[in-house]
Amino acid sequence: MDYTALAVALFSLVWQATAFSATAIQPVSRVRSTNTAILDLLKEGRDRSTTFRGLTEAIDRSNGIVYVEFGYCAFGHLDGCLLPFIASTDADRYVRIVVTPEKNRLSHDQLLGLIGHELRHALEVLDHPEVVDLTTMEAMYRKIGSPIGGGQRGFETSAARAAGAAVLAELIGKARPLQYVRAVARAF
Ligand SMILES: [Zn+2]
Repeated sequence: MDYTALAVALFSLVWQATAFSATAIQPVSRVRSTNTAILDLLKEGRDRSTTFRGLTEAIDRSNGIVYVEFGYCAFGHLDGCLLPFIASTDADRYVRIVVTPEKNRLSHDQLLGLIGHELRHALEVLDHPEVVDLTTMEAMYRKIGSPIGGGQRGFETSAARAAGAAVLAELIGKARPLQYVRAVARAF
């Protein structure tokens, strides 16, 4: 018996078992961010709002990967948006949500409501497998949405409005636990 080969085989088994258990304990969410403050917000939204949690769970069941980042939409005219760009691979579709980093524009809970609103838009795209680029996204929103007007190019949907309002109502009904007050003080 070649002991080196045996050791490698054993190591490989242990490694696979560890990798498997890590995946089983903490599956990677398909709602992501490169920003730790937003990762905290996503966790808080899931913990405090049933609607928010439902939206992220629906995205986790889709073939989409949704990034939520701070940034500007329509040169700052909008507080948040789903960017009209989709990157597709054979397995996944990547979409990106941008929300304003300006704290004076929205309260903490309004920001979570806005993220919920935009997550609903992400699901609208992910629920339509034919949407793979700007053209197909616009065609879909012409069917299910209405133009936002005001000189802005974009669409709004009643489903996203309802999702944002539901998240906000649930948050207002529940005081922020101290852990999140601390987290936000650190993050911002
Ligand atoms: Zn919207």
